[in-house]
Amino acid sequence: MAYFPGRGVRGAGPLPTALAYDPSNVFARILRREIPARLLHEDEHCVAFHDVAPQAPLHVLVIPRKALAGLGDAGSDDAVLLGHLLLVGRAVAERLGHPSARYIVNHGAPSGQSVFHLHVHVLAGRPLAWPPG
Ligand code: AMP
Repeated sequence: MAYFPGRGVRGAGPLPTALAYDPSNVFARILRREIPARLLHEDEHCVAFHDVAPQAPLHVLVIPRKALAGLGDAGSDDAVLLGHLLLVGRAVAERLGHPSARYIVNHGAPSGQSVFHLHVHVLAGRPLAWPPG
């Protein structure tokens, strides 16, 4: 998957911050339909569903089907996929009546990541403080 040919992210492989991927994580189980989720969107590249513990009136998660533990596992080849996750999140939020939303990717436990399958949070429906806690 080409991304700005000749100007891609340096190195095609995972970055040094790559995380180990555990296929028993909860989002992998949702992808395999082993546990239920309130699905909002699915296509060949990703799935979007309601967060089980919403932090705002709208709290959607968009996850790739690809087994990436976190942002550090994504390389140049994933650039289009990463953009797709954002665009799907925006489309879902707009469809549900939220043209304004916050898009968040936690990467690594200190940032708040608790599920080690890459995901984009989409939060909307209330004023959101900045900086985040
Ligand atoms: P993070 O802390 O960035 O890794 O975000 C993980 C998110 O996954 C949290 O907001 C959780 O509420 C959410 N979550 C955990 N288990 C489920 C589940 N079974 N269905 C939907 N969302 C979940």
